[in-house]
Amino acid sequence: MTRTIDKVTVLGTGVLGSQIAFQTAFHGVDVVAYDISDEILETAKQRFHGLAARYTQDLPDAGTRAEEALGRVRYSSDLADAVRDADLVIEAVPEALELKRQVYTQLGELAPERTIFASNSSTLLPSDMVDFTGRPDRFLALHFANEIWLHNTAEVMGTPATDPDVYAAVVAFARRIGMEPIELRKEQPGYVLNSLLVPLLNAASALYVDGVADPETIDKTWRIGTGAPAGPFQIFDVVGLNTAYHISSVSESEKQRRFAEIIKERFIDQGKLGVATGEGFYRYGEQA
Ligand code: NAD
Repeated sequence: MTRTIDKVTVLGTGVLGSQIAFQTAFHGVDVVAYDISDEILETAKQRFHGLAARYTQDLPDAGTRAEEALGRVRYSSDLADAVRDADLVIEAVPEALELKRQVYTQLGELAPERTIFASNSSTLLPSDMVDFTGRPDRFLALHFANEIWLHNTAEVMGTPATDPDVYAAVVAFARRIGMEPIELRKEQPGYVLNSLLVPLLNAASALYVDGVADPETIDKTWRIGTGAPAGPFQIFDVVGLNTAYHISSVSESEKQRRFAEIIKERFIDQGKLGVATGEGFYRYGEQA
């Protein structure tokens, strides 16, 4: 059976949910943006206008498409209303397992039979949630990266119960909205991207903590040795040192916790959070 996805609902209008909804609308697909209150949806509208400006600035051939995309988004704080006509619901609610399970329980009761559910969770596996969806064959993960219009991977990861036709329809949808689908054949914590990136960043921070080499030297080695455009400390600056701190400070590895202390003392306490504040491991600005 061929399934087409023409109507999409995104749950959560935060950092990623707003980007996913806007990217969908930007590529001509009608989208409903759902969040838990009208007040939050007012903030979301500002977010969407901010995204329209970013798309226009960053994508040279965007023309008037970003403005037009705003007209394709309908806002709703009523879950039954938001999902009543959806072919696909993409869930981007906060990264808390119990909350997501509650959301899927409710959603499973309210959404039409045909509707596919996809989770954008970064750290949970679809298997953690599948039993709460009421439709194991129509559930999988569809994971986007921050700044979706620039970093356009969409990692697609099912459970053993996911129907291959559903998987294929979601891959086709991802492609339709300008994503490069990354097809995972089995469940993997961290998907493909973070399975590669996290060990690299951990190894780089260990070299730094141990005083083996400074960040510039480590980055230069990686760039020249592999041809990659950026080294791990340049990546830390893009991710943001606050995020790096939060992840490292709760690590089981003592060395990672030491890295968290160092970046707090040397950078975060000085207001140096990376590219976003103009300085982190490197300085940014006119000369950057
Ligand atoms: P966020 O905190 O910015 O946004 C979460 C949104 O969900 C908020 O608008 C909140 O009001 C809303 N919300 C809360 N409870 C809800 C409910 N019951 N139903 C619907 N909406 C509800 O979070 P985020 O950074 O956008 O992350 C959302 C998901 O996306 C997480 O699973 C996260 O792992 C994943 N993700 C985040 C990033 C990132 O860089 N931020 C990247 C990839 C994936």
